[in-house]
Amino acid sequence: MQLAGPLQLAGKIALITGGGSGIGRAASLLFAREGARVMVLDSDAADAEATVTLVKEQGGDAAFVHASVSDSSQVQRAVAHTVQRFGALHILFNNAGVSGLGRDGAVATLAESDWDRIIGVNLTGVFLCSKHAVPAIKKSGGGAIVNTASIAAQVAMHTHAYSASKGGVVHLTMSLAKELAPYNIRVNAIAPGYTDTPMLRHAKSGATREWQEERLRIMAGQTPLGRVGHPHEIARAALYLASDAASFITGHTLTVDGGFVFQ
Ligand code: NAD
Repeated sequence: MQLAGPLQLAGKIALITGGGSGIGRAASLLFAREGARVMVLDSDAADAEATVTLVKEQGGDAAFVHASVSDSSQVQRAVAHTVQRFGALHILFNNAGVSGLGRDGAVATLAESDWDRIIGVNLTGVFLCSKHAVPAIKKSGGGAIVNTASIAAQVAMHTHAYSASKGGVVHLTMSLAKELAPYNIRVNAIAPGYTDTPMLRHAKSGATREWQEERLRIMAGQTPLGRVGHPHEIARAALYLASDAASFITGHTLTVDGGFVFQ
């Protein structure tokens, strides 16, 4: 007989950005299984709604809001909607992100529009969601923010905008942690390694199945554990940092990468 422990997020309200796909969807399902009521925010409304359906199918409670994390007024409305729908806000998982899809390469040919888009979502988005969510989290008595960095913040890769955005997230995590500690709000980040999601597969830009499998095979070969990560393995790290299990941890970036960075 397996004894079930207490749910790790019982009574908590969580806002998960980019919850319509990949790591954000896995986290929405996991956080809900651990007792949280989840607001799924995504710029793709159909994907966000699909996540909510999956949460409800497993007996959880969730709703979605269509918004872009890089639009301040949309984020403000999304936070207000979350509080109106669920009555409080305790956890913000800043997970939404975009990659360069092959265009974030040599600096001389990197378009300013791609730079602005990647920084706008991956870094400014974390700032805007924190800016608008923090007053609500304070009002709820405290909580936790989990940001999403990357191994690209820790080692040099062939991406400039993406790496700079994720490096910025690591440092924003520390400065937010310092400001918000007196308010009982912990702020940490996860730094995922290669993880099998639509982003990694370039799935939405029409990459063939063969191209995707070859890309994953190469990335698995670069990872000491010999495989890429599953979205739920990253979601579990976010759950840990969001939960009371990490009650004395703040300002930290937790690498979850199958050993990629240390090698
Ligand atoms: P994904 O593409 O599967 O999911 C990202 C989600 O974010 C999508 O649902 C997308 O619609 C949403 N999104 C994009 N722009 C948005 C915006 N402006 N506003 C709101 N939602 C928006 O990608 P994923 O791999 O699950 O990535 C999740 C996070 O993990 C990202 O921050 C990414 O940079 C990071 N990460 C991923 C990997 C990996 O290998 N997959 C590695 C390191 C870090």
